[in-house]
Amino acid sequence: MDRAEGTEGRTALVTGASSGIGAATVRALANAGFRTVAAARRLERCRELAKEVGGEALALDVTDPDSVQELKAALPDVDVVVHSAGGALGLEPIAEADEAKWLEMFETNVIGVERVTKALLPALERGGGGHIVVIGSVAGVEVYPGGAGYTAAKHAVNALTRTLRLELLGKPIRVTEVAPGLVETEFSLVRFEGDEEKATKVYEGLKPLTAEDVGEIVAFAVTRPPHVNIDYLAVKPTAQATARDVHREG
Ligand code: NAP
Repeated sequence: MDRAEGTEGRTALVTGASSGIGAATVRALANAGFRTVAAARRLERCRELAKEVGGEALALDVTDPDSVQELKAALPDVDVVVHSAGGALGLEPIAEADEAKWLEMFETNVIGVERVTKALLPALERGGGGHIVVIGSVAGVEVYPGGAGYTAAKHAVNALTRTLRLELLGKPIRVTEVAPGLVETEFSLVRFEGDEEKATKVYEGLKPLTAEDVGEIVAFAVTRPPHVNIDYLAVKPTAQATARDVHREG
């Protein structure tokens, strides 16, 4: 997206900015004219990205309350918060559920969004035109075998986001959920613990979304006029109809 009106002097924080959708969102928001803050655990990657776009980088672990308090202290002014930190771990059926993975998925995807939102709400409100964007998922409204830990977490993210919109009614803060289908990022590599063969298979025979496709959508949502709130935007590859139904060539 080219430079948009009303972005100058405004700050956008992106969590999970060291990779995938978060990194692409930082680039799209910087192009649109925002001052960007890229945050994730892998600080070096965030620093490289910040150098590329002329923004800033911060270390952030959304599962660590102290780390989120440090983020709050470092960001007295923030106008846009994009929650991209998250992901899936494993694809085991409930009968073989690994509870450590479930806990981590809930800690990162759900509590992480709650914790960062709670910490930055006062600053978002003070700025007079705040915007919270949550990267949800098709898994927030659909289910599939083996996906229960992740789909339950993303359903919770969907509920949290809709609740937030009710609780912030009357305040100058917009709330948007962007819910993608298949996006080729490090998502599947993380899900399958670095197994490249399994990760590649997820996208085999179809053209998945790119992280940039989603980053552009976030930039579009946050550059609408202040009275326009994109509540929920689902985006999937053309070759995907539901979380389970995909068309593969060959
Ligand atoms: P990705 O490339 O694996 O990126 C995930 C990001 O989350 C990384 O930057 C990672 O950074 C960060 N992260 C993970 N745990 C964190 C923690 N505890 N604290 C701070 N940051 C943390 O995957 P992605 O596809 O871009 O995923 C971004 C979001 O989109 C996730 O919420 C995911 O659930 C959602 N999503 C993805 C897809 C898809 O098909 N790819 C579809 C729908 C929704 P560090 O490891 O450096 O901390």
